[in-house]
Amino acid sequence: MAEAGFTISYLGTGAGGCIMRNHTAIVLDCPTGERILLDAASGNTVLRHGHELGMSPNDFDHCLLSHSHADHCEGLPHIEMQRSRRNEEEHPMQVYGSEQAMVDIGTLLALPTRGLTVDAEGALRRDGRRSIAFRPTEPGQWVQLTPDVRARSTQVNHIRGALAWRVESGGHAVVFSGDTRWCPDLADLAQGATLLIHEALCTEDKREMADGTAHSTAAEAARIAQMAGVGGLTLTHIHNDYHVDTGPLAAEARSVYDGPVTVAEDRWQQRV
Ligand SMILES: [Zn+2]
Ligand SMILES: [Zn+2]
Repeated sequence: MAEAGFTISYLGTGAGGCIMRNHTAIVLDCPTGERILLDAASGNTVLRHGHELGMSPNDFDHCLLSHSHADHCEGLPHIEMQRSRRNEEEHPMQVYGSEQAMVDIGTLLALPTRGLTVDAEGALRRDGRRSIAFRPTEPGQWVQLTPDVRARSTQVNHIRGALAWRVESGGHAVVFSGDTRWCPDLADLAQGATLLIHEALCTEDKREMADGTAHSTAAEAARIAQMAGVGGLTLTHIHNDYHVDTGPLAAEARSVYDGPVTVAEDRWQQRV
């Protein structure tokens, strides 16, 4: 019998400027049973698409943030609100990211109409319950999320504090690039991983678009996959132009990387 691996649910797969797809959020169901959220999208994507896949806000105890652009983290207050309604005990959501990302989401959560108090440790509800705990992380450092799940980040080339994450559980590893232009350090982070999930805004013929916004092309994502010798590559963070036909992204990646390539769709679930 095959050893259990990760189940990955893509709740949002659109780039920041994409109006055809929801923004980036990915759920990892680990071989050892834990559920880890990678990025929080904007709006209620995690709640709505998560609900459609049988997930509850209470499931999201651990969130790894790639960076603080709105399309990756503005869903956090919505998740926080739903969790606070359901959790009678103090049960803070652990949010991991760079020091910069913690500062930025502190500002996001402190909007007066939310009714939260934000301090250096996270966010508190009016009744004093802590609902979010900030977990600033140093790139390169292992973080033990649970006894059976650990994660490590590396800095990527996008905005200040932008990270890629490697999550390991049950002998498997999934790596998520976050948003980044071409970043060779990612190949080190992804070395031998079961799956690399890499952003790919567009194909090489539109590379000015990727360069101008600090994103990668499908070929660049595939070069990282090839260098790292990963078991598979999934492309996400897709531009409007490729929403209907993702074929050109997949074809370009397959011309560079020998392994299996897939382009993610909203609410698609992948087992690796
Ligand atoms: Zn983005
Ligand atoms: Zn971004």
